[in-house]
Amino acid sequence: MFPAFTSAHSHAFQIGLRGCGERFPSGAADFWSWRQAMYGLVEQMDPDVAYQLAHRCYREMVQAGIQTVGEFHYLRHHVTDQLDFVLDQAVIQAAHDAGIELVLLPAAYEEGGPGMDLSTAQQRFVSGGFRRYWERFDQLQGMLRSGQSMQACVHSLRAVPWDQVQRHVVEAHRRGLKLHVHLEEQPRELAEIKAAYGAHPVRLLLDSGHPIEHLVGVHMTHTPELQVVEWIERGATILPCPLTEGDLGDGVPILPDHPRLNQQLALGTDSNLRISMFEEMRRLEHDQRGRTLRRGALRCGGDAPAEVLWHAASTGGRLALGLSEPGPSLSINQMHHLLAPTQDSSLLDALVFGGDERVFESE
Ligand SMILES: [Zn+2]
Repeated sequence: MFPAFTSAHSHAFQIGLRGCGERFPSGAADFWSWRQAMYGLVEQMDPDVAYQLAHRCYREMVQAGIQTVGEFHYLRHHVTDQLDFVLDQAVIQAAHDAGIELVLLPAAYEEGGPGMDLSTAQQRFVSGGFRRYWERFDQLQGMLRSGQSMQACVHSLRAVPWDQVQRHVVEAHRRGLKLHVHLEEQPRELAEIKAAYGAHPVRLLLDSGHPIEHLVGVHMTHTPELQVVEWIERGATILPCPLTEGDLGDGVPILPDHPRLNQQLALGTDSNLRISMFEEMRRLEHDQRGRTLRRGALRCGGDAPAEVLWHAASTGGRLALGLSEPGPSLSINQMHHLLAPTQDSSLLDALVFGGDERVFESE
């Protein structure tokens, strides 16, 4: 038995973009043009479509051995001028019906960039200020189904003014909650935040004077190594999403060979373009090998990258979502031709570097 997978960072509705935006008639595109396509999907969203997409995504996750999901949830409204929050319920119901353990991460979202108005699509995301965010958070607690829980979330330092971000950091800590935030995914984000507030996002958080051990930084693809090390040593978590970062051309995070990283590393399927934790694990390690020109890049002071990777894809995700261990487990058919004839001592290595979902024992 092996710990079941956790996707600690998901935007379920984005599964609706699968197959879209992969042709480039006018040349190379980037994250920002993909975001425009995603906003096109957002503008068509109603509660039924939101439910259908989330349900499809969560069912596919369960089939891929993912039994727990952290839903970084920012698509909240159908009728934007009322802040109706009706799409919250769609996600809660879809997870329940698909039989996946949900940790809902309702995102604070206030502006279109530092000091900028919201676009039409972004009006679907708005949380309505600090007090309204936490009022809705408390309401949602009462709407959760069994096996569901919540942690706090700020979309990014682009979408929430820095003074409010700090209040959320303090409030989440006071309540004993994790706080998830997209961090330093794209160079433009770093430039905009530095122009507005005088430093890059991770530097701002490190120097804020507030506790950071409850923070979970999603992506951190452009964070300098020394800041990643400080992030880890002060107890915070890093959450890469390798397949999505590869698809969007975000870049590759610097993951130092640090003994504490193992407990503070999680993985997410993010855009859900492809749902496979096997592929996420391999891409993470292979990207680090490509970056450092060395094999066995991600060891966390030990000697087995496969142990680090499976932990990040399962228990590390549960820790990032404030859940206890151990979680659910997966039965593996050790006699499957993808694994046999493998010695017991190298089974995990064979699974991580040569396995896929076909090795699951059918019930
Ligand atoms: Zn994301």
